[in-house]
Amino acid sequence: MPQSAEWFAEHPFARLSFSRLATYERCPAWYRFAYVDWHRAWSIPVQRVGHAVQEALQRTFDATPAADVTLDALSQRAGERALAHFRKLFAEAKVAHEADPNGLGPFDLSEARYAGYVRRGLEWHIAEVAARLARRHPRTGAALSLPEAASVAEAWAAVRPWHAGGERDLEVVPAGHFQGQYDLVYSWTGGRRIVDLKASAGTSPFSTEITRQLNSYAWMERAMGRGRPEGLEAWFLGSDAPRTYAVPSEAELDEFAADLNRLLERSIPEEEGARADPTAFEPDPAPLAHYPPQNGDPSAWCQYCPAAYSCPRVKRVVPEAPADDAPILQGMVLGVGEARMGKKLERRFTLVNSQGTQSQKWAEADLARFFPAGFRAGATVRIEGLKPWRPPGGGFVRFYPQAQTRLTLLSAAPAVASPDPDTLSESSS
Ligand code: SF4
Repeated sequence: MPQSAEWFAEHPFARLSFSRLATYERCPAWYRFAYVDWHRAWSIPVQRVGHAVQEALQRTFDATPAADVTLDALSQRAGERALAHFRKLFAEAKVAHEADPNGLGPFDLSEARYAGYVRRGLEWHIAEVAARLARRHPRTGAALSLPEAASVAEAWAAVRPWHAGGERDLEVVPAGHFQGQYDLVYSWTGGRRIVDLKASAGTSPFSTEITRQLNSYAWMERAMGRGRPEGLEAWFLGSDAPRTYAVPSEAELDEFAADLNRLLERSIPEEEGARADPTAFEPDPAPLAHYPPQNGDPSAWCQYCPAAYSCPRVKRVVPEAPADDAPILQGMVLGVGEARMGKKLERRFTLVNSQGTQSQKWAEADLARFFPAGFRAGATVRIEGLKPWRPPGGGFVRFYPQAQTRLTLLSAAPAVASPDPDTLSESSS
């Protein structure tokens, strides 16, 4: 790997993560769309609700029960507390989704279903407390040489898992090229058991990526100097039991490291400031066993891929492009993201039409004035009265708004199919 830790500290956007690697492995052109061309794509309600489930559980685990509580009373009180957290977070997620111009589709998820996921996560956590009281390993049943817990409250405190508290808990490996964040780490048995929480039943195409995700965590543990984890688990909260996974061998971890390096070599050109060669990221989607492709697509992944609307390997209906030299932007909004330039907030949005996909970067205020008129992910829009700017070295014409710039909403209905939330996990983006 030619880049140093110092180089990555100056270029944090170039770091890899599990989700970037997974995107590349689904299809190199999907990776190009998101991490070479930096186009924006919609977010769907299930992603926010997954975070609400996770946060409700984490807040509950952090609480301190009464000193004399029994296990039954603890289960009941913690359950009530978890559901109260969840209801509030669910309501906040709905408001945030509706206010977010990048939110795609209606927020029509079943609160009851996700509340059930919260109850299931708590049930599995209570099983950890019961195992601590019995001084037995929760997975193997082996006796553990631990002192007897003086109370249920003490056992609850002893098993409390570590969890991330936001961006600041994003870990970066010493070499600087990979970052990640675990959901939960249980360490009361003497080793570290890493748990990934999933607000899903574990039956979606994205669920097939869990082994790779957990292996990336095992590799990260080694890279951070923490050795082998005791266990790797996925808690699919719509399923019957926690799923456990084998900790990969040293050779498998070496192979994972080699895969990362190969992707880095493709992604980061040797010449400082140059862009990655887009031809190194051709559409070549991975097959998905048990998930047949739809609509003549080459892979089931294409159904979820934001690059599909300008992909030569699939057929999608997209809006007509305006005349070549018209100072007009017209197309379907694929995504609306934020971009920070120092303290200044900018918006980067991506449009697709019959000429392809392009992204524009505008000042926040310039774009935000169109939000009340319906500019958001999934809408088809026409923006006229723009000031074109041709880069001296060639490339895409860029358009900037001016006082007379106007937006017409051609269609508010998402032309993008919102994936069925029942088939998605929250880590799909
Ligand atoms: S639509 Fe399919 S082939 Fe095209 S970029 Fe996406 S995943 Fe790859």
